Amino acid sequence: MEEMIVTRFAPSPTGYLHIGGLRTALFNYLYARKNKGKFLLRIEDTDLARNSTDAKEAIIEAFDWVGMDYDGEVVYQSQRFPLYQEYVKKLLDEGKAYYCYMSKEELDALREEQRQRGETPKYDNRYRDFKGTPPSNIAPVVRIKAPLSGEIKFKDGIKGEMNIQAKELDDFIIARSDGTPTYNFVVAIDDALMGVTDIIRGDDHLSNTPKQIIIYEALGFKIPRFFHVPMILNPEGHKLSKRDGAMSVMEYKEMGYLPHALLNFLVRLGFSHKDQEIFSKEEMLELFNPYTLNTSPSAYNQEKLLWLNHHYLNLLSDEELSNLLPLYGAKIPQENAQKILYPEIKERSKTLQEFANLVNECVNEVQDFDVKMKSKVNTQENIHLLEEFMVYLKALKTPIESVENAENEIATFADFQGIKAKNLFMPLRYALLGKSGGVGIAPLLAALSKEEVIKRVEKALQSLA
Ligand code: GLU
Repeated sequence: MEEMIVTRFAPSPTGYLHIGGLRTALFNYLYARKNKGKFLLRIEDTDLARNSTDAKEAIIEAFDWVGMDYDGEVVYQSQRFPLYQEYVKKLLDEGKAYYCYMSKEELDALREEQRQRGETPKYDNRYRDFKGTPPSNIAPVVRIKAPLSGEIKFKDGIKGEMNIQAKELDDFIIARSDGTPTYNFVVAIDDALMGVTDIIRGDDHLSNTPKQIIIYEALGFKIPRFFHVPMILNPEGHKLSKRDGAMSVMEYKEMGYLPHALLNFLVRLGFSHKDQEIFSKEEMLELFNPYTLNTSPSAYNQEKLLWLNHHYLNLLSDEELSNLLPLYGAKIPQENAQKILYPEIKERSKTLQEFANLVNECVNEVQDFDVKMKSKVNTQENIHLLEEFMVYLKALKTPIESVENAENEIATFADFQGIKAKNLFMPLRYALLGKSGGVGIAPLLAALSKEEVIKRVEKALQSLA
């Protein structure tokens, strides 16, 4: 039987999920799902001062929003201390780990000496084969017996062959003097016990891997496959900072990004298929392959994210858009108005927030007329035109309900006044929106009721008086 692919996402609970984390989760998710395998979630909360419940909720909220799910129960490292202790004991019993009684002062002195000799500070194995009577005033740490010679080798799915000289590593600590296990120790045990076959994670973890392999080997666990993904950098080539967009996933929701746009954006930070930019979820599942991930870092490109968001926003139905609007503080227009306005507004919006703002501009009465526009519009001729237009509207027998209708009425009115239709646009835009820019005049006339248009024109005339 073919081996089942099991991946995991193992965040440390920083309270929210940032986009680098979401990309790692996405890669693991896609690889598991495309292979009908399992995608597991483990919260690395061994730092007990942090609150793991909040972290879990923050992650689940983000996963829900982007439509990613995980299998089984969430594993919390904080609940597995007894298990880790069992493995420390096992290694001690088998002579693969040992107590080290070196005091902090001794360790500091050793490091200082090594530094002065120009060497990299490293534990000197002094308790590795210690047979004497241990000092009674020192609570010992537990160290693993790392190989003394040779190489630790593994083949990284992205970076290729990795060879680390054993002499570069030391007998690192697996349990501190208070008995708590260390990071690399618990990660290796959990990945092994959870049956993880493939580990896709940021390449900031690359230097941890040889240590984890030493643990796997000491415990006789099968070593998983590793894929170390290059970081996401800002356009200047530096580590992504909050200002560049390293903020929480849920902030992207608040700013008006669509979940799939964000996923599409993230998948392309490392993955490519020919020159394709747009990937449906099905295509991601079909085409994603961790072995072909880019070997160099990817640059965060805000313009690209906006471009993708605009693309996906344009695919939403009127109903989907209406359901999303209240989240961004917009009123939902009448159905006919939706049909007319949404396509107009979609074209002009990159985010749902922009979309909502433009909807509000259309459906709400003008509160503040733009001063600059007012000074341009405030002429006898325009005031006259607006007054006449009101009279014209009031006399209309049938409502204006389509863009074509609106265009015809504007043309007829302009003919009647002996002016060009476009002369009416600026005063009418001032009356309906109170500012320049925004949705076209004909769609606005078609979307708003006749009463509403008359009301707005009256208000505009008062502002010009
Ligand atoms: N907890 C680690 C982190 O959030 C990830 C550990 C791993 O993927 O092995 O960076």
